[in-house]
Amino acid sequence: MAKKKNSNNDDSSMIRCSFCGTPATGDLVFVPSADGSSYICENCVKAIEEALKGFKESNGMVSNESSDASKQSLDKVPKPKEIFEFLNSYVIGQESAKRYLSVAVYNHYKRLAQKKDDEVDIEKSNIVMVGPTGTGKTLLAKTIARLLDVPFTIVDATVLTEAGYVGEDIESLLTRLLQAADYDVQKAERGIVFIDEIDKIARKGDNPSITRDVSGEGVQQGLLKLLEGSIVNVPPQGGRKHPEQRMIPVDTKNILFICGGAFDGIERKIAQRLNSHVVGYSNKARKGVDRDNFLQYVAPQDLKSFGLIPEIIGRLPVLTHLEPLDRDALRRVLTEPKNAIVRQYVKLFDMDGVELTFSPEALDLIVDKAIEYKLGARGLRSIVETVMMDAMFEIPSSETKKFEVTAEYALKKLEEANFEVNNN
Ligand code: ADP
Repeated sequence: MAKKKNSNNDDSSMIRCSFCGTPATGDLVFVPSADGSSYICENCVKAIEEALKGFKESNGMVSNESSDASKQSLDKVPKPKEIFEFLNSYVIGQESAKRYLSVAVYNHYKRLAQKKDDEVDIEKSNIVMVGPTGTGKTLLAKTIARLLDVPFTIVDATVLTEAGYVGEDIESLLTRLLQAADYDVQKAERGIVFIDEIDKIARKGDNPSITRDVSGEGVQQGLLKLLEGSIVNVPPQGGRKHPEQRMIPVDTKNILFICGGAFDGIERKIAQRLNSHVVGYSNKARKGVDRDNFLQYVAPQDLKSFGLIPEIIGRLPVLTHLEPLDRDALRRVLTEPKNAIVRQYVKLFDMDGVELTFSPEALDLIVDKAIEYKLGARGLRSIVETVMMDAMFEIPSSETKKFEVTAEYALKKLEEANFEVNNN
């Protein structure tokens, strides 16, 4: 259909765009009319397209096209129970956090599917997950991301500082989301951001800052803008904003924020609060309180005692906790999740045609070591890696077709690698 131009300098025979008069001498594509008597250039086609779009939108002939495309049909969205089941295949335990997340994500989709003119405006329910490090907060967030078809990103709150100080501006949190959405702003505006280590921006002292607290309260104030929903100017390349940089305005109204943090020491605040509800120390009054796991009673006021400002807490209405992983849970982490560590090594060996197995005693030993060195779930991988290193080096060049990791073998390898010395 398109015609490209000749470079004949004879003006009368030169093809021109019948709309703007541009001669067809460059790289522009020209489209002829049906009878071939006139032409329209590429630029004019684009301009007409834009004008038509604007006209139709402003006359209500189409609802904004891409926002329509962005509407999710709820039928296709997994129900909370399905989301929960999906999480179950990757994350061990953490029932409470899984339930909260499943509901929050489902509601997020509902909000996206809501008609603009609906009288009831469903507010978003940003989430905060409190739990010791290495108990699955990031894993939960990543697993949710596998399931979703909205842009998703994980960002770390520790790099943030108040605008004007060394570190990254708060708006850069959204840069990653924009990148995840291939810079499609409308897509990004329906995305989910997981902010890790939210506890690191807690106010350092109990009193509101007298001196400047550039990585604490100031950042919280900045974050508030994002959480409550406003138009934020995002630096497309992240990092710090500078005056010449072109900013991309992003509306955070429909972006769901999931925050996670270890909140080290928050148990003490919870215990204090629970204790102060009873006059004196009476076992009877505290009956029913599981003193080994105070985290399960975490309440918004504990986050406040920890140093989050009330406005931020108000914008994180869903509060849930993760349990510390006990021996049994760690043992399950090793083998049960779809991409469990043991399964990954079995796969690695399988690719060399070698059948790898671990004896139950070897698995127990690995868990024991993780507990002994207080490495938690995160340590399981480094222990297994240490145990498997020699085998992974030797076996591919050998005739071995079957290999069992026994407790004796595992212990020997850990000793040879000075694992004990290195981790004490
Ligand atoms: P954090 O709570 O500090 O964000 P992560 O989610 O990063 O912890 O956990 C670190 C690693 O430990 C994960 O990649 C995963 O291998 C393992 N892990 C932690 N908790 C669980 C869990 N509940 N179920 C399965 N694996 C887990």
